[in-house]
Amino acid sequence: MSRIVHVNGAYLPEDQARVSIFDRGFLMADGVYEVTTVIDGKLIDFDGHLARLQRSLDELGIANPMKRDQWLEVHRQLVAQNGLDQGMVYLQVTRGAPGDRDFVFPDPETTTPTVVLFTQSNPALVDSPKAKKGIKVITIDDIRWGRRDIKTVQLLYPSMGKMMAIRQGADDAWMVQDGDVTEGSSNNAYIIKDGRIITRALSSDILHGITRAAVLRFAREAQMPVEERSFTVDEAKSADEAFVTSASTFVMPVVEIDGAKLGAGIPGPLATRLREIYIEESRKAAI
Ligand code: PMP
Repeated sequence: MSRIVHVNGAYLPEDQARVSIFDRGFLMADGVYEVTTVIDGKLIDFDGHLARLQRSLDELGIANPMKRDQWLEVHRQLVAQNGLDQGMVYLQVTRGAPGDRDFVFPDPETTTPTVVLFTQSNPALVDSPKAKKGIKVITIDDIRWGRRDIKTVQLLYPSMGKMMAIRQGADDAWMVQDGDVTEGSSNNAYIIKDGRIITRALSSDILHGITRAAVLRFAREAQMPVEERSFTVDEAKSADEAFVTSASTFVMPVVEIDGAKLGAGIPGPLATRLREIYIEESRKAAI
């Protein structure tokens, strides 16, 4: 069945949706995106994603093409028109298609942003077989640019990292800068030692995960101590537990780092509990 997608104000079957070859998203990765999870046909942390979208757009000097309620309407329309129960809504805004390729930003009066949204179904989101087993990660050098706090569509290196992991029989890659873990290819990274949850502090080195913010809030509410600081690969390998967070994986236990098993090599109790709390609380607050 063909999806209904949204392009610049229009709802269209996916095979009729078109974006210009001159679009700066295509030519220069000059665009930003968000991924909002859908559970039970409802949006998880919608306002958090919109706030980060606004921040990413502001950092790049792209005008936000829609108001909050218009964004919400498009998200809800796509969920409804595609009968989405579990999955995600992907949203992308680029600086638009000026007609010629030029390093100079086009005049925003004449070139308006391109807006694309589509849904992706994933019935195994909540009841994830991967979350029951835990995932294996490898570590790779973090050679991305210095503004990882802006959620741009420059995802080539994270995608290459994911492929390096898969070729080595692992599931994902943790990126490392000056000996410390920054984050996963598409998620924030955590270790747990002696009951303390440790994750890198927010800066331009990592994406400010919307799931990260929620999980740290829930952890603190459940009296689990949280330390926002960098950790080394060696520290991670000798941790009791580890996990990653993202909108599309929630809390995903990590059971192996560069071939070294953590504990018994199965998802740890705190990561498992945090996953349950996150899903339960998010479901309650979904809109
Ligand atoms: N870091 C990176 C590099 C990511 O790509 C993502 C997911 N887009 C995250 C962290 C997690 O962010 P969120 O919880 O908002 O999905």
